[in-house]
Amino acid sequence: MKREANFWNKLEGKKVQCNLCAHGCKISQDKVGICGVRKNENGRLYTMIYGSCSSMAADPIEKKPLYHFYPRTYAFSMGTVGCNFKCSHCQNYSISTADPQFSHMQEITPEQVVEYTKQYNCQGVSYTYNEPTIWHEFCYDSAKLVKKAGFYTCYVTNGYISEDPLRELSPVLDAMNIDVKAFKEDFYKKICKARLEPVLNTCVIANELDIHIELTYLVIPTLNDSLDEIRDLCRWIVDKLDENIPVHFSCFHPDYDMTNIPSTPMETLLKIYDIAKEEGILFPYLGNVSHGDYENTVCKKCGNICIERRGYSINLDGLRNGKCMKCGNTIPIIINKKI
Ligand code: SF4
Repeated sequence: MKREANFWNKLEGKKVQCNLCAHGCKISQDKVGICGVRKNENGRLYTMIYGSCSSMAADPIEKKPLYHFYPRTYAFSMGTVGCNFKCSHCQNYSISTADPQFSHMQEITPEQVVEYTKQYNCQGVSYTYNEPTIWHEFCYDSAKLVKKAGFYTCYVTNGYISEDPLRELSPVLDAMNIDVKAFKEDFYKKICKARLEPVLNTCVIANELDIHIELTYLVIPTLNDSLDEIRDLCRWIVDKLDENIPVHFSCFHPDYDMTNIPSTPMETLLKIYDIAKEEGILFPYLGNVSHGDYENTVCKKCGNICIERRGYSINLDGLRNGKCMKCGNTIPIIINKKI
């Protein structure tokens, strides 16, 4: 659905500049920006996807992944089309590369997001599947209503949002899982056609704004799996963010235009897990792996397993009122009052 966009300005002639994400696209008349969903029509910028939903489902919050945010709840999850990154290993390329004419689109209103959240028996809403930044106007309008109705909101994002829209969103956005795809500019330039620095800025600003953040790092053999790079990332997190921020190191599986690279060996992931702990990350996790205790939340004081995860089967018996059941140590986790 077409609607005039926010966060843009006029340039000479009939050109416009979009300021929603760090690309800052300068867009000529009748053209779209890099994301493919924001169009210059007659010298004004329009979002072509307001309320246009490509996918919706009730997902466990752990799927995002968010491990320290309302564990064992379900989020009404939805996405649209397009993306401001061009990652060659995209796992959702059928929607991220689709345009607003995508045939499976369903038009919905912000009010319906609240209705669906209730109907699907969810405790919150997740803007996910493709990049939510480029859906800003609809996410913001619907998140306001979702919060008012007493539900939580979260983004699964590449972190390329500009500061002003992030600040606008922050009063109605509870959590973000931010993908840090590498800790080198070169990777972002070659693989994502983007830059690392704006992503790191988003992490810092979101943290300052008190949005709950968790980071995901997909470990791709030969491209971003250098142990020095991982060490540098972990040091940066401890130094600039917070040692309590959960960091999910995920196993890569070949996809889209990157089928020539094998899956991440477990051995590499285990080394990374140890490095993260050595560098002071208190809650490193391994994702997309089928064995081991690397998905559990362990009390740093007494070693008790406070949350045990086996895929999406979540056991919260080791946690009471946000504290370790055994020693009473506070676990930095946002919980339902009942847990
Ligand atoms: S949101 Fe889209 S149009 Fe706007 S700057 Fe980013 S990529 Fe360009």
